[in-house]
Amino acid sequence: MLNESIRSLKGVGEKRAALYEKMGIATIGDLLEHYPRAYEDWSAAVPISAARPGVPCCIRGWVVNAPTEYRVRKGMTLYRFRVTDGESSLQVTLFNNRFAAAKVRRDMEILLYGTVVFDGRRAEMTSPLIEPASTGQRIRPIYPQTEGLTSRMIETNVAQALERISALPELLPAALREQLDLCDRLTAVRNVHFPTCSADIAEARRRLVFEELLVLQLGLLRLKRRNRAQSGAVITADHTATYTAGLPFTLTGAQSRAIAACVADMQGNRPMSRLVQGDVGSGKTAVAAGVAYTLIKEGWQAAMMAPTEILAEQHAATLQKLLGNGVRVGLLTGSVPAARRRELQADIAAGKIHFVVGTHALISESVVFARLGLVITDEQHRFGVGQRARLSAKGNNPHLLVMSATPIPRTLALILYGDLDVSVLDELPPGRQPVETYAVGSDKRERAYGYVRRHLDEGRQGFIVCPLVEEGEEPSTLRSATEVFRDLSANHFKGYRLGLLHGKMKPAEKEQTMAAFAAGEIQLLVSTTVIEVGVDVPNAVIMVVENADRFGLAQLHQLRGRVGRGRHRSTCILISDSRGEDTRRRLQVMCATGDGFRIADEDLKLRGPGDFFGNRQHGLPQLKVADLAEDMDLLRSAQAAASAILAADSELEAPENKPLAAAVERLFARVGEQGLN
Ligand code: ADP
Ligand code: MG
Repeated sequence: MLNESIRSLKGVGEKRAALYEKMGIATIGDLLEHYPRAYEDWSAAVPISAARPGVPCCIRGWVVNAPTEYRVRKGMTLYRFRVTDGESSLQVTLFNNRFAAAKVRRDMEILLYGTVVFDGRRAEMTSPLIEPASTGQRIRPIYPQTEGLTSRMIETNVAQALERISALPELLPAALREQLDLCDRLTAVRNVHFPTCSADIAEARRRLVFEELLVLQLGLLRLKRRNRAQSGAVITADHTATYTAGLPFTLTGAQSRAIAACVADMQGNRPMSRLVQGDVGSGKTAVAAGVAYTLIKEGWQAAMMAPTEILAEQHAATLQKLLGNGVRVGLLTGSVPAARRRELQADIAAGKIHFVVGTHALISESVVFARLGLVITDEQHRFGVGQRARLSAKGNNPHLLVMSATPIPRTLALILYGDLDVSVLDELPPGRQPVETYAVGSDKRERAYGYVRRHLDEGRQGFIVCPLVEEGEEPSTLRSATEVFRDLSANHFKGYRLGLLHGKMKPAEKEQTMAAFAAGEIQLLVSTTVIEVGVDVPNAVIMVVENADRFGLAQLHQLRGRVGRGRHRSTCILISDSRGEDTRRRLQVMCATGDGFRIADEDLKLRGPGDFFGNRQHGLPQLKVADLAEDMDLLRSAQAAASAILAADSELEAPENKPLAAAVERLFARVGEQGLN
């Protein structure tokens, strides 16, 4: 039944099935797991005077007058009527919705669902949903929808599907369900779609979230155990002292501790699995180099995977410098010409190259290592667990070092990266000055440019960062990097050496531009957020961010990390004309602190966990119901339950654990295929 195609539902023909397909829904089972993203509560109507501004609610009232039609212009007709709840009245406006207006009659009792706006003492609702009072009183699901497939259509189909189902296979062992007082699967699925009260939703969510997190934790823990069970490239010596003697600077205490922890890991007879988490500029590259140094001196090869070509190239150059001439570093990316690539691959296979740096080109089958002993990935969230595993498979259980600049609270990191040990670089290299940050309106843009010119005249470099302009977006207020580049080259920065960098350029062009900027040939780089990850130019001391309100806090923090990396005092100017309270607070946070962890916390508070984690890839499987920030408690109990289950049945072979084993396979198989990039 669950495997039956959704075509078997009434009203689902070829066309609608194709729309469902687009959302990854092919079967009845898939549809039942398409959970609502929110609810409309029609069950508790409030008086008009009690409606809160900005919060959708349900109003019950009587229609005072039939809708009046106003033709505003061609193709735009308004319908207006008033509703009273006996105490106050409300004006309702509908746009072009003749269909809805035709059903509204004088003196009829109706329910309205929408947002009330108060203008002085006048209350108004625009384009609410309308139902006769006799039908609508319940909590209704709001589904993620797609063009041509509305939440209401999905609701109808889900209701049909649920009618046909009398039981659902249970994933959770009965004992566990009892212990945690979790409802059965069918009840949970019914109530998450069609709750009768908010307690229903809470109970259903608790059960479904727990189940999802349990499967996730089981998968991560098994990964960790599998790593632990086998031995990697065992290192007996420690060459860190030789490495540090060759460095142009002294390592910070945090860097030394991280390297020591890694070397100790590698000296054990299990492969290392360690996450080094450090804010932008904390010196993660020098840590990676130090760890690789000891390993390479012991006769093994290291590989580093970076998310972009620019970053891979820069890492290769930096690592070569840090490691000295005794170590051969090679660069392998998609844009390396075929002939050179073959040569490189031969050298890697022969063990003549000690350290290979590249993009995901490294995972390609044709890349074979002689003695791969260490895999390093930069910027964890861009790679999937699966990709990491595929690179590791090129060695005999090599050590794994993951570097991440994504500031997430430590407790969360420990759970999220359940398969990794964690080192935190909580100390910046000495002499770093905080980047002075100002938030200004666009009326100050001229002055900002003048300020930038002064720095360029003194031999420094800078960035102008523009948001990505999506196709079809209002171009009048948003200027794309390309437009800004043209404008500045011709006007404010005529005679200066400008560069342009954006995601649509060919990799080779990007490389060239970035290299020219790093070499100081370009003074001012106009770019989109492609510079966000890791590019290091210490002489760059000034950054102007256009339409700063278009960026999230965490992203602004990453961007700002591109300046303030050298001895010079650096400045970041955030330009925004947005008057939103939220934006103002966000930009204020940026001006007040440079601490990535604090910024992440503020981001969490301001935007809510949904947004913070919503678009972020952690290299973890996509979760359907759980919210990693909101559901911390359930995450903890899922983790405890997962440990207990594995302690008793490490291979998940007991009959009561079989369904869980299958669910783990399913979840992680998806990750393996797509790598979640
Ligand atoms: P991130 O952690 O953001 O990847 P990087 O590894 O790019 O940081 O290092 C940032 C800058 O700091 C580089 O220019 C690097 O040479 C420098 N650096 C790293 N460690 C130290 C140190 N201990 N003392 C001085 N400068 C350092
Ligand atoms: Mg870096």
